[in-house]
Amino acid sequence: MSKTPQRVRGTQDIFGEDADRFQAVVSAFDRVRRLYAFRRVEMPVFEETQVFARSIGETTDVVSKEMYSFEDRGGDSLTLRPEFTAGICRAYLSNGWQQHAPLKLVTHGAAFRYERPQKGRYRQFHQLDAETIGAGEPAADVEIIAMGAQLLDELGISERVELKLNTLGDPATRDAWRDALVEHFRGHRNDLSEDSRARLEKNPLRILDSKAHQDWPIVDAAPTVDDFLTAEASDFFAAVTSGLDAAGVKWTRDPRLVRGLDYYRHTAFEFVTEDLGAQSAVLAGGRYDGLMESLGGPHTPAVGWAAGIERLGMLIDSPWQERPEFVLVPMGSDAEIFCGGFIADLRRRGVYCDMAYRGSLKKRLQRADAAKASYAILVGEDELAAGEVTIRSLKSGEQLRRSVAEILKGPIGGRTFTLVSLTHGLDGIANTL
Ligand code: ATP
Ligand code: MG
Repeated sequence: MSKTPQRVRGTQDIFGEDADRFQAVVSAFDRVRRLYAFRRVEMPVFEETQVFARSIGETTDVVSKEMYSFEDRGGDSLTLRPEFTAGICRAYLSNGWQQHAPLKLVTHGAAFRYERPQKGRYRQFHQLDAETIGAGEPAADVEIIAMGAQLLDELGISERVELKLNTLGDPATRDAWRDALVEHFRGHRNDLSEDSRARLEKNPLRILDSKAHQDWPIVDAAPTVDDFLTAEASDFFAAVTSGLDAAGVKWTRDPRLVRGLDYYRHTAFEFVTEDLGAQSAVLAGGRYDGLMESLGGPHTPAVGWAAGIERLGMLIDSPWQERPEFVLVPMGSDAEIFCGGFIADLRRRGVYCDMAYRGSLKKRLQRADAAKASYAILVGEDELAAGEVTIRSLKSGEQLRRSVAEILKGPIGGRTFTLVSLTHGLDGIANTL
């Protein structure tokens, strides 16, 4: 017998409670993004490789060693998206979305990075993503960070995360800070990890983000951005922090916070947790005013964030398990035919229901129990002859007969009428119609 195929390393088959968690995160995101008036956008899973290489930066981990790049049959170099921002910016330029600026967009879906898989770190993972494009005002930073904070709050995990905030300043700030960092790190060259030595000339800011313990004391002693902030950059940061205070968003300053990607300017932030081991970042982003130019477009200020859906899913409480309200249990072939039509009538009226169509009556009732339904709807010869159904509470075992004609008086979409006509009198439910 040939071996059955296995899941590819670093991918996931998300099922059961994990799937419920995933869905709970995405639903909360959809609710919150509406409150903030962000519109949905759906993006391609792959782009020309240069979209990511030029914007994220050749010297970043993502571009230098984590991308899934391949040549397609036409000989073009394509890459599975390692994140959403670069593709959304490409779309903004290629579709002339400038006319909609400031454009507030969200999306979610799979992202791909060739990393060492571990808890909370996968090769195909999933992100929520939010972007405000064409807005240089600090109000845009405040709004999008507040949206992230409200999402975490609605997911019930605001106590488990902390918002770390920094500014990387404007280009003048960044250049001066960069020179000082190079000088500092050069003085400790021999004590730095190999990765960080390689970053020294090309991308010294990234050393601040190093995951190698041996770098940490050197990082702690490094000059902070505060010594290099221009007046303009510090005014911008002050506007962001006072806006966050006004919005009631708690934050702490981390003057050494940088982000893994090259394109950030001014605001950089991360919501971090101590509850996921080494994978501490759950929602992270910042302002990326230089990105559009790296793609050959006009100067376009923008700010955004991304969050790992799996990491958020691991932090939330066990979510409500989706379950049908009613399970139909037909007995006999006539009842099965009747129930096939009746269940469609109930579903058209907005009632969540399922049908148990396999095995003995006992098996069918077990199925209704296992589905965690609230009620079974029993239909046998007796009920058919009377034009009725029996509604049984699976909680108390109480049951009552109901007229089918009465139930179906509920109009299409008339969920409340239908529910009450099914259940009143059971488990103390009053007839509120
Ligand atoms: P990390 O420091 O954990 O590698 P990152 O800085 O590379 O994260 P970003 O590029 O900012 O991450 O992506 C935004 C979010 O996406 C992260 O905060 C995290 O929640 C999630 N994420 C990133 N990479 C992975 C991965 N390989 N598996 C699962 N989630 C991930
Ligand atoms: Mg990473």
